[in-house]
Amino acid sequence: MKCLICGKENFVCIHKGTRDFPDINVMRCCECGMVALDSRENNTEENYSQGGMLKDSYGAVANRKEDMQWDTWVEETRQDDERRYIALKELCRDKEVLEFGCGNGGFLKRIKNVASGITGIELMDEAREKISRGGVEIYRSLEEVKRQYDVICMFMVIEHLNNPDVVLKKLRGVLKDKGILICETVNANDALISKYGCDAFMDFTYWSEHVFLFASDTLEKLFERDGFTTVWNTQIQRYPLANHLYWLSQGKPGGHIRWEELGDRQLDDLYAKKMVSMGIADTLWYAGGVKKDCGLIP
Ligand SMILES: [Zn+2]
Repeated sequence: MKCLICGKENFVCIHKGTRDFPDINVMRCCECGMVALDSRENNTEENYSQGGMLKDSYGAVANRKEDMQWDTWVEETRQDDERRYIALKELCRDKEVLEFGCGNGGFLKRIKNVASGITGIELMDEAREKISRGGVEIYRSLEEVKRQYDVICMFMVIEHLNNPDVVLKKLRGVLKDKGILICETVNANDALISKYGCDAFMDFTYWSEHVFLFASDTLEKLFERDGFTTVWNTQIQRYPLANHLYWLSQGKPGGHIRWEELGDRQLDDLYAKKMVSMGIADTLWYAGGVKKDCGLIP
């Protein structure tokens, strides 16, 4: 197997098995640190079309819910939708916004208030049907999109793509010359892995659908070779200190809820800042503009 980023074939296995397939291994490139699964066979479009995300999202697993309903899913993503809305509302004001992999459409619904137009792309059949009922323009694939956008968002999507280069080049093609693409993804160097070495977290977080896991440097390399120039490349710590302490002592998710009494705005803000400054926060937050004369797409 060749590394997505550097092309070398020098990998080390950092975890045996994913939470859903004991025979899929998590590999790390010894040259550039890129993390990839040794099999992408189970990561199929069909799975996403049939709502694999809804049935096996992070939240569903965290709460051990057997049959996760639509409303519960919407409720569970509300906080992230709101965080993204606050971060991006000025950027999206009076702009044409495309969200690639829009899930239940929670962010699009929020950003509709300030954007001049919104479009979603989503593989999940049920989601497209429900979102289009709300009058939102939504497609199954990028090929159906016939115009260009000022802002393109992809939140927790790139780690699911079997061919991220192909998708990024296509997205570059529907981005206006002065447009910007926002990418949020999980950090391969999350503190629970790279600093604390929490086995329970690794057993939980590695998943057959997260086929590539980036760090800030590998994500930037990917974008820059696919026709983007870096506008910002930072990180966000979504989970507070209580969540980490709970993982380390109980080996389970949900510590920010179960140990809510440990929550403290100032403490959590400082802890988050520390995680970001060390490059080991849980989430990567990247933005790329169009690189001129990259020779990829006219
Ligand atoms: Zn590599």
